[in-house]
Amino acid sequence: MRADILAAESGTIRKKWKGRLPVALIYPNTYPIAVSNLGFQQVYGLLNRREEIVCERVVYPENGAPLRSLESNRPLADFPVLCVSISFEHDFPRLAAMLAAGGIAPYAAERSRAPVAPGAPLIIMGGVAVFMNPEPIAPFADVMVIGEAEPVFDDLFILFGENRRGRLERQDLLRAFCGLRGCYVPSFYSFSYDADGRVTTIEPSRGAPERVERIYLPDTAEAGHSILFTDKAELSMYMVELGRGCSRGCRFCAAGFIYRPPRLWPKEAILKALDKRPEQIRRIGLLGMEMAHSETLAEFSRLLHRDGLALSFSSLRADRITGDLVCLLADSGLKSVAIAPDGASERLRRVINKGLCEDDLLAAARQLVRAGILHLKLYVMLGLPTETMRDLDELAAMLARLRETVLPIARKQGRMMEMTLSVNSFVPKPWTPFQYLSYGGLSRREALSSQEAASALVALKQKIRYLRRMVQKIPNIRLRVDRPERVLEQAVFSRGDRRLAPVLMDMGTGRRTFRQAMKARGLSRWQYAIRPRDADELFCWQVLDHGVTSGYLAQEMQRAFAEKKTAGCDTLLCKRCGVCR
Ligand code: SF4
Repeated sequence: MRADILAAESGTIRKKWKGRLPVALIYPNTYPIAVSNLGFQQVYGLLNRREEIVCERVVYPENGAPLRSLESNRPLADFPVLCVSISFEHDFPRLAAMLAAGGIAPYAAERSRAPVAPGAPLIIMGGVAVFMNPEPIAPFADVMVIGEAEPVFDDLFILFGENRRGRLERQDLLRAFCGLRGCYVPSFYSFSYDADGRVTTIEPSRGAPERVERIYLPDTAEAGHSILFTDKAELSMYMVELGRGCSRGCRFCAAGFIYRPPRLWPKEAILKALDKRPEQIRRIGLLGMEMAHSETLAEFSRLLHRDGLALSFSSLRADRITGDLVCLLADSGLKSVAIAPDGASERLRRVINKGLCEDDLLAAARQLVRAGILHLKLYVMLGLPTETMRDLDELAAMLARLRETVLPIARKQGRMMEMTLSVNSFVPKPWTPFQYLSYGGLSRREALSSQEAASALVALKQKIRYLRRMVQKIPNIRLRVDRPERVLEQAVFSRGDRRLAPVLMDMGTGRRTFRQAMKARGLSRWQYAIRPRDADELFCWQVLDHGVTSGYLAQEMQRAFAEKKTAGCDTLLCKRCGVCR
């Protein structure tokens, strides 16, 4: 399998080990998913750019393959440093499994007295799941990168190199890391909890800062882009970042808050990244299109079209679709487009601050189908705060109108139309105005009266059944629904604290299921996923400082209930959330 992967891949970096620091870069999911993650690729490039480092990738093995590095087939126990790139909470148990299977002590406390060496490595973690809420996996890490890797990695490894030469003890090294902005050393913080499981205090020790300020890349001369290419990737294309963050302020979206301020890279930086694509590349994925101006998009699309390249993207904002852009997308061979209304009704879209009305959606669909893009995918969340069956009725009515709008256009072209409604259960995320609310869309009263995780599952399943009945009445629409039980795990991990680490280990090693592990460790799924939080409650993720104030998030939650619109970011003038000073 390893040989097949390497044979199909270009961009692999191979370096001699002699005289270099070996670093294993772990992605806790399978190769096709790992190699489709631009952040993972960027860290691979960033580490290997340093002459003194040899960085090799280790992905979650499939079909019983051994856990070894891709480049030189070495086990984890050969590396004195492990870097983990982790973007999704559902990869947490896989990470625990890889550490446990790697022949090393998985918990930082078990390595604390050992000098940094192969078999007792320094474990550095980063990625969006880490800087949203590092706590569930914090007990496995020596140091965690809070924010974007580029501005901190060089300093981190320079410091490591200096200390290595001086043979500093691990604890001295960790203390030195504490002085770097964006570096969190979990073992230097202790948390206490009350009888209900709420965090009561977070105490830093040994000179660690009270809160760890995140770090971000303010600007760049070259936009982030793919360096690895393979047809085995889940997303096989040359990825280029148009910017980071998003200016829209959707209230459910953690990325929209923790990547603030929103940044659009300069045109020259994007062109430079595009110029670096290998000749054989035929498809380009532009990341961050939600934020980009339609004129900018149209310009890049024209440019790519001129060179005979096809375009790809994850989803388009319905109000950003222009006629020109749609034609260019269709010309580039795109057969399906995803649009995310996110909320089932116009009222819910006001609650989440999505700022999209039905007319925007219908107009976008008309343009796409006219241009010959005949598969429309719509993404909607279920279980949003204040949602009722009436909102689902409105969704079904909107789907029927959408079908009536686009079907005649497709028929005129003598073509069949395909529509997919993809429904995902909403998960309340840290650092968002919805961080105080319950999984399952339960009101405060409903959540407090049941005290059982089952109440959220029952509410979601009822809505799924109801929606299924409604959608079945509309021909040509396929419904895809996630499993609320599976998403409950994510809802627990996303606002979880470090008491969850043994649960992840139980799950990762196959010793117990999620439910059994929670029970065995005396932890309640309701407590993490459903218990409504007070506006002044202390959260474990507040050991970090993302710049967004709690007061702003609580105020935004109130604005959600009042269905009030909040304007997008204007980084030159606005100071309201606390990030731009
Ligand atoms: S201060 Fe204003 S412009 Fe800056 S990130 Fe916050 S909301 Fe956006």
